[in-house]
Amino acid sequence: HVDFLLVGGGLASAVAAQTLRAEGATGSILILCAEALPPYHHPPLSKHLLTGTEGEARIFVHPEGFYGEHDIELALGARVVGVDTATQLVTTARGEEIGYGQILIATGATPKPLRVPGASLPGVFSLRRKTDADAIRAAIVEAKHAVVLGGSFLGMEIVMSLLDAGLKVTIIEQGPVLLRHLEAPELSRYFERYAEGRGATVILNDTAAALNGRERVQEVETAAGRHVACDLVVVSIGVAPATDFLAGSSIALEDGYVVVDALLRTSAPNVFAAGDVTTFYDPVFARRRHIEHWDNAVKQGRLAARNMMGRRLRYDEVSYFFCEVGDIGFNVLGATEEADARVARGTLDQGSFALFYLKGDVPRALFSVGRPADETRVAEGLIRHRVGLGDIKDRLGESALVL
Ligand code: FAD
Repeated sequence: HVDFLLVGGGLASAVAAQTLRAEGATGSILILCAEALPPYHHPPLSKHLLTGTEGEARIFVHPEGFYGEHDIELALGARVVGVDTATQLVTTARGEEIGYGQILIATGATPKPLRVPGASLPGVFSLRRKTDADAIRAAIVEAKHAVVLGGSFLGMEIVMSLLDAGLKVTIIEQGPVLLRHLEAPELSRYFERYAEGRGATVILNDTAAALNGRERVQEVETAAGRHVACDLVVVSIGVAPATDFLAGSSIALEDGYVVVDALLRTSAPNVFAAGDVTTFYDPVFARRRHIEHWDNAVKQGRLAARNMMGRRLRYDEVSYFFCEVGDIGFNVLGATEEADARVARGTLDQGSFALFYLKGDVPRALFSVGRPADETRVAEGLIRHRVGLGDIKDRLGESALVL
């Protein structure tokens, strides 16, 4: 029997365990990790760690001795296959049964599979785990021409890393623009030109219909009839929550995501959830959301731990993420899809740029590059408190849209 059982050895669990001890929890804590590694940060995997190993030792969420020093037990290679909320028991793939007092579901997400012929040929990868990054890095050594399927944040980071490694890179995106979730066609076009300027070939409005090859992948055949020769394919078409093991449990799911309330409690007693795996109510935007970003996993992991200790704190954060497309590191606060107008300041070429997304006269999101932290904090306050900016749009006018 374990007092605090944390399922999933990722960012949210690691932060939750740390918070439990920092807040004075004296009960036993066990983290069940499917992988063979202690919790690590994923963001470096698509950036510098896709092409080199420098800084590899620094990816771990906590230093090596942390778990022992804080009396936190870490079970590696322990995949959970079932949760019985009536008897408060979990079962692992190795056949262990573990009783719990409180449990946190933090199993994250897994890449959506590409469902076309040839998708399992050697040379075809997706990128989520450290082992995926290691496999791609090994394949890069022999490869000359890579195709990246999917032009969203992760796909674009992968494209840039592969270009850095000296590969010829083609990106195939099914939608009409890259980085569609920025909801800003002018930014999408900027990044398209940027990728092309770095040597990438960008194909929009098309998808992979088949991956062809004899022993390894040799080409991507597209729905529009293109044949793109390649020897490496990275599939980056989104993620799905890792909740297969909850099928048949009494924990409510919605589109596979674990439904949590404002206190990050699930529908079952003593069961909490945090991170990529959740769908939660976002009070800032007054609707349910699921967010697959680093900051959300940290903040939900921390809050869930406090509530597992009997506190009653509500999740109330302005969502935030960062991304690095080549030399352009950007931050996004809030929900870009909430806006009906955008106001730009600065220029991307000069590395100092802010795009405010407004709904009516209320800021809903901020895309920024190289701006001072103070400015971001102010924007966060405006978004959180839905502060109207009166006639700001009229005063700045359309000429403010300078890229
Ligand atoms: P995870 O970190 O995925 O941890 C879940 C863990 O649970 C995994 O170790 C998994 O193996 C384990 N698990 C799954 N099923 C089971 C089971 N049944 N039993 C036991 N264990 C299980 N976000 C940003 O904001 N900015 C970025 O630049 C950025 N870059 C990223 C780059 C990459 C390559 C990836 C993959 C993600 C990136 N993210 C980024 C997203 C960010 O890493 C995630 O949002 C974050 O890791 C989510 O944390 P989590 O704890 O919810 O899930």
